[in-house]
Amino acid sequence: MKGLLGVEEAGRFHGRLVLKVRGLPLVGHIAFGVLDRGTNVLQVRPSTLCFHDCIFCSVDAGPSSRTRRAEFIVDVDLLVEWVGRVASVKGGGLEALIDGVGEPLTHPRIVDIVEKLKSDVAGVERVAIETHGGSLSKSLARRLEAAGLDRINLSVDAVSPSLARRLVGVEWYDVERVLRIAEWIIKETSIDVVLTPVVVPGYNEGEMRALIEWARRVGAGRKSGWPTGVLIQKFEVHKYGRKPRLKGGPWSWQRFYSWLRRLERETGYRLIVEPREIGFEERPSIEKPFSEGDVVRAVVASPGWHRGEWLAVDRGWRRVIAVFPGPAGEDLAPGMEVRLRIVRDKDNIFIGELR
Ligand code: SF4
Repeated sequence: MKGLLGVEEAGRFHGRLVLKVRGLPLVGHIAFGVLDRGTNVLQVRPSTLCFHDCIFCSVDAGPSSRTRRAEFIVDVDLLVEWVGRVASVKGGGLEALIDGVGEPLTHPRIVDIVEKLKSDVAGVERVAIETHGGSLSKSLARRLEAAGLDRINLSVDAVSPSLARRLVGVEWYDVERVLRIAEWIIKETSIDVVLTPVVVPGYNEGEMRALIEWARRVGAGRKSGWPTGVLIQKFEVHKYGRKPRLKGGPWSWQRFYSWLRRLERETGYRLIVEPREIGFEERPSIEKPFSEGDVVRAVVASPGWHRGEWLAVDRGWRRVIAVFPGPAGEDLAPGMEVRLRIVRDKDNIFIGELR
């Protein structure tokens, strides 16, 4: 595609454009860059790619994605620079949590990212990575340890090999291997591991006891000083996410918490924790340069993440804005000047409509 601004084409992934982000602002979009939700934990999103294909994926990642138009890989130095900008308003004691709408380990320079976040960004004391673990290996773990990684949030959803494969959606996924390596990481490296399974009603409720027993046996979460090594996530239906058929439908939050409380009682293992017990503190947020309802002049930079979406950047080059032009949007192209009405601004994540 001609005239792209701030990104360059880096190939294709299952038919979708792969764009390397070299010059866009790295605050403003949910899919890449830095997310600041007003705490000391900065979500750092280096890659939207994923080689897993989970049947419950809330962000429709992986080979079988139907809603995505492009994937994004972020330049390392640009990413570290923007983490530094966000960190600068927050004071010390920060955690950089590398997560995303994809699998962070797909970034070809993930080890460098950990190393630079840990050593180059003032205020960052801990670096953690969220992963489903399909590409974890002892040698990668050793390199991540040397780079300064403190914790892996391991999204393993079942101990049964066949069910884990079914949930992760790829034949090659070997949960026994993933858990073997995770145990080795806890015992042989300075990195902690905590489990972050997603409970998908009707599929894997019965697997949680075995995951809890694993975490208890290996001491998951202990190096971090946490009161638990298992943070069970609730499956949520999202507009762009995958929607597996659920017996009895999705759970309410009330049902989820009463199920968690029962599981806590039956296993004698902490599953419900306060954010402060796992290192979260409220902190100031970075400035929000515009708010819902404002009209902003911007330039179209590149195709966006979802089908029909474009990325635009305001004239001050402060934030990236997702634009969904609707049926008349075929005419948008990189380099076009547009006027956008901001229709979403929460957490410095912006969506704009053409005026
Ligand atoms: S849930 Fe995570 S690992 Fe699974 S497909 Fe989605 S992004 Fe990839």
